[in-house]
Amino acid sequence: MSQKREDIFASISNKSSDTEFFSPVPKGYVKGKTKYVVVLGTVMSGLGKGIFSSCVAKLMQDKGLKVSPVKLEGYLNMDSGTLNPFRHGEVFVLDDGMECDMDLGTYERMLNLDLSKQNFSTNGQVFSSVLKTERGGGYLGRDVQVIPHVTGEVKRKLRVLARDSEADVVFVEIGGTAGDLENAFYIEAMRELANEEGDSNCCFVALTYILAPQTLGEQKSKAAQLGIRELLQKGIQPSIIACRCEEEVTEQVREKISLFSNVPFSNVFSMHDSKSIYLIPAMLRDSGVDFSIIKMLGIEDKIDLRKERSEWEKWCDFTDRVTKDHKNEVTIGITGKYISVRDSYASISNAIEHCEAWLGCKVNVEWIEVTDITPENTEAALRGVDGIIVPGGFGVRGTEGKIECIRYAREHDLPYLGLCLGFQMAVIEYARNVCGIKDANSSEIAPNCGSAVINLLPEQKKIEGLGGNMRLGGRDVEIKKDTLAYKLFGDEQTARLRFRHRYEVDPEYIEQLQNAGLVFSGKAPNHPIMQILELPEHPYFIGTQAHPCLTSRPLNPSPMFLGLIVAAMKHKYPGIYPEDVSTLVKKAVRK
Ligand code: GLN
Repeated sequence: MSQKREDIFASISNKSSDTEFFSPVPKGYVKGKTKYVVVLGTVMSGLGKGIFSSCVAKLMQDKGLKVSPVKLEGYLNMDSGTLNPFRHGEVFVLDDGMECDMDLGTYERMLNLDLSKQNFSTNGQVFSSVLKTERGGGYLGRDVQVIPHVTGEVKRKLRVLARDSEADVVFVEIGGTAGDLENAFYIEAMRELANEEGDSNCCFVALTYILAPQTLGEQKSKAAQLGIRELLQKGIQPSIIACRCEEEVTEQVREKISLFSNVPFSNVFSMHDSKSIYLIPAMLRDSGVDFSIIKMLGIEDKIDLRKERSEWEKWCDFTDRVTKDHKNEVTIGITGKYISVRDSYASISNAIEHCEAWLGCKVNVEWIEVTDITPENTEAALRGVDGIIVPGGFGVRGTEGKIECIRYAREHDLPYLGLCLGFQMAVIEYARNVCGIKDANSSEIAPNCGSAVINLLPEQKKIEGLGGNMRLGGRDVEIKKDTLAYKLFGDEQTARLRFRHRYEVDPEYIEQLQNAGLVFSGKAPNHPIMQILELPEHPYFIGTQAHPCLTSRPLNPSPMFLGLIVAAMKHKYPGIYPEDVSTLVKKAVRK
């Protein structure tokens, strides 16, 4: 979030110890211009607050309202960069380089928006800003406290977002569950915000969970009631309750919740499990929750129903494809270190789902455990797959197995897509087995290897410490004319992709690799940083130093993923698709 000194200090109008109030309002903020929808969780976390919030935001965006989401995280890390995806799910990277929670990916996909660091906050960011202000004399005369100073900082951040995004509605998603100590001051800040902004400018939504134990065979509302009571105790009266459950929540259970929570029955909604996240906007739209919130916030006059009609038509065209029975089916093998937690690869799963819809082809994912792979058992491990993805990753474990899988794909015309680490492994494989550089490796994996074809660039080596030398965020990639990449990206010479890596192809080896037939079809403008590789003689062998899954959107799927699935279809059903991969990709998205 913008930390401009003038913002912080100009907004602190009451520095002295004369008053107990502390509510920083940044310069240029107009009260009432932006409305706030605050989404909180009760009973348990992981209910899909981000999904609910992004779907309602999408329904509002369709109606011509400008929306901006923000996720408030309860941990002390400054960002998600150092979190293990195994514990916390995928690290999502925004265009401005912010490493954040995977929910931001849900927002970007659902809203088709590029978000920024203003849309993500952690306790670490909040406290660090408060301490910086304190050291700068910003609170002179006062003992600095959680209330009002930390809560004040949260309100300030939200108001800066509202001002800078010029949003009609800011969607605030509070991480965790009501009752967690680490999120308590966020909830308190929201209570204060609602009080300061005025009733009709804030709407609280409680997401809750309805238990349905199999032994009882019925839905039970007690845990939900207790969870909502926790919010009421904190001074938050929800206006909307969304009930998560496997099956649709019965009228009786919703009545009970209404009775105990002061929320009218008409505002207690069911948000039950759905085959795809992309079908949830329709479920919520049918229930009318979007209009309930619009009415509560008094913004009916701002909505454009004509725009909503055309946006909804486009969306339904996509969701019709999601629900259709697909006539073809392929299997993609993904080599993954974090295979026991699917959330670690959330964006890849999403990018594949986008392809399934656009290509009318079901994709079965087979997770390949690579730690035990050897040249002898690779064929058996890859039996039945029509294509492989080697995704991003860090560290040594499993890298030799990945290289073996890539060798197999290259030698047996099996479609291949390498993402970041998968790009680097493809370079190492080619260097070893085609160029004959037997000791080729990455200096991340083997710091003392003889031929570090994947290496830190000299400028990067100077930057000490992990994290400082990561290339993060959106970058333009210069694409070579008439290559596969060029055709896949719609005959464009530039593509914007997202990056999160430290190592890259050492420029010393580029010529040797190219002379042996490897084509670098994408590179950084003005720098010898290789970003896309391909093998022209292979049916589909492409790798990128970027993470194209991060920018695959339902209505704008990633061309590299589309290419892989099309190539897998050609592999599975030989002779049925006579056109080449890029022509089939172009046709599929033009339909
Ligand atoms: N570990 C590799 C690097 O740092 C690849 C990173 C990734 O796959 N995200 O360059």
